[in-house]
Amino acid sequence: KVLVGNLVGEGHRNYVLMYNMLTGIRVAVSRCQAKIRRPLTEDDYYARHKYSFDMLGNELTPSARYDFKFKDYAPWVFRELRDDHFHLDPADYLLSLTAKYILSEIGSPGKSGSFFYYSRDYRFIIKTISHREHNFLRSILKDYHEHVRANPHTLLSRFYGLHRVKMPRGRKIHFVIMNNLFPPHRDVHETYDLKGSAFGREYPEEEAKNNPRAVLKDINWVNRGRTFEFGPEKRALFTEQLRRDMEFLKRINVMDYSLLVGIHNMERGNRDNLRLTKLRVFNPETSKSGVVHRKPSAIKSHSEAHSVRRAVNRSDPKSMLDASVNMRLPEEGAPDRRHFIFYQDEGGMQATDEQNMPMDIIYYLGIIDICTPYNFGKKVEHAWKSVTENPLTISCVQPNFYGDRFYDFLLSVMRGGDVTLRPHGLEPSS
Ligand code: ATP
Ligand code: CA
Ligand code: CA
Repeated sequence: KVLVGNLVGEGHRNYVLMYNMLTGIRVAVSRCQAKIRRPLTEDDYYARHKYSFDMLGNELTPSARYDFKFKDYAPWVFRELRDDHFHLDPADYLLSLTAKYILSEIGSPGKSGSFFYYSRDYRFIIKTISHREHNFLRSILKDYHEHVRANPHTLLSRFYGLHRVKMPRGRKIHFVIMNNLFPPHRDVHETYDLKGSAFGREYPEEEAKNNPRAVLKDINWVNRGRTFEFGPEKRALFTEQLRRDMEFLKRINVMDYSLLVGIHNMERGNRDNLRLTKLRVFNPETSKSGVVHRKPSAIKSHSEAHSVRRAVNRSDPKSMLDASVNMRLPEEGAPDRRHFIFYQDEGGMQATDEQNMPMDIIYYLGIIDICTPYNFGKKVEHAWKSVTENPLTISCVQPNFYGDRFYDFLLSVMRGGDVTLRPHGLEPSS
């Protein structure tokens, strides 16, 4: 499910939306990036910059193919996050997202109705979010920034930008840009979305057999006898970071987040070719059909990348669009990842034995979906579900309980741990 995407090319029903999102990002981000760095102020966290695009253009915005409004939230904060904490090269960031106006769309993999778009090189994800989530993210941005500053190796989603587009007569669409936890260059053989809850947390095994991209859940993990294979060193690092991130999530009063886990089996390697079977390499000329099957090959040539980078640095959208960049996936993990302990081995975290020696598994993991505060809606759901279910096993519980259960479960499924999720989900976990 995760890796199958539809290319959004011209004629696609969301092409205009995508065009507007990318144009907004390109103009807004390069504008901010072109200014001289200055220390952040309190106001920066609440700032929003408005842009109005039309066919004519003006001194602030170049001409665009469609009329739309764009808002860039807290641009200076996100710039600092990207540059200082997430180690992104500014030109790379814009290049990945906007050098060609192509994204792959995954319509709503979750229940929330959000849409996910992958950048053409598969490094970045654009997720549309609700107005509520948007407001929430803005309200915690300062705490988030502080947490990231204090925890350079955080497992939380890395947010690179927060924006909104509004088309004439259309509704407002909020979206964030974040890291794709999964690598472009390695097959992910199994994917899990773990919450530490048993309630409704099973993907039907019969269906999973025919779908190597299924996003499996807690009960599948337990029934398949999965554990995190980390030796003492990595186990200590991982659990400590997990604990800190979980404490942060409790503090900001959220729940419903999960640990997304991708497992790459090195012995199996890439021979199944699960990567991007459909969305991966493709030819813009034939994008009408939506899908082209090809083997990933080396990323764009050096000189091409160079000319685009120059254009970005000059903030010259025209030459940036004209620069030709091949739609090929990189053979290697992204350079930013070497800065992060948990994303250092082939873009992920390699399993180790009790002597801390490497084993043949790479985990790609991170905590996702962290913008759901415990609010009125959830309380109602809790009360309602409690009537029929054991309140300790359902997933809508207060943030403190949610965080503890999440952490306890993950600890319990480390190698040698004593699994605390009851397979049938009917007994409390502690
Ligand atoms: P819901 O609220 O119903 O859980 P949602 O729309 O908020 O859904 P998420 O939970 O954020 O969506 O993500 C849904 C799926 O998308 C995840 O299970 C995962 O497969 C994929 N996904 C989300 N974020 C990432 C990420 N950063 N990297 C890779 N895959 C991701
Ligand atoms: Ca989710
Ligand atoms: Ca969600």
